[in-house]
Amino acid sequence: MESIEIKTLISLMSKIPGLGPRSARRAILTLLQNPEKKLIPLAEQMLLTAKKIKLCNICGNIDVHDPCLICKDDKREIKTICIVEEISDLWAIERAGTYKGRYHVLGGVLSAIDGITAEDLKVNKLLEVIKKNEVDEVILATSVTVAGQTTSYYISDLLKEEKVKVTRLAQGIPMGGELDYLDEGTIGAALSLRQPVQEN
Ligand SMILES: [Zn+2]
Repeated sequence: MESIEIKTLISLMSKIPGLGPRSARRAILTLLQNPEKKLIPLAEQMLLTAKKIKLCNICGNIDVHDPCLICKDDKREIKTICIVEEISDLWAIERAGTYKGRYHVLGGVLSAIDGITAEDLKVNKLLEVIKKNEVDEVILATSVTVAGQTTSYYISDLLKEEKVKVTRLAQGIPMGGELDYLDEGTIGAALSLRQPVQEN
């Protein structure tokens, strides 16, 4: 019989995506069996990070700095913006290590059912950054789902007014696939072989 403290820990841990109650119990047990080396450092680091974590007001990335380290990095190309659905996609492209531009994280896709509008995707902020930094290329890296494609058409349509080249990742992203599930080589290739979006 577990105490309320341990039960609460397990229940909190089991809310993490990918961890059900069984894995959560196993993880918590490992931590509890070695509090000095595992539980305390994890708890302290979590608290430290929790107090500092912010959303970047420019790109929507999550970091302990606002603007985030990517937006603050002078060595990164400010005239190229890659548009991704989620922060996990940004992290996946960063892991691939070949992209040297900036990002815009939509935080979702247009969806009438879920009531997600262009305003929720911070499209005005995107347009503002494009004008301010005289961006000359926008890379659409939304998923190949219907909602992802609808969002990408919407954005490319919006950008027709701007003097900006719109490209999209090369073929090779699986249907409904999320960037996070692709290996670094595939992401790098999809980026370097990106195609101009057809005018329609
Ligand atoms: Zn940023």
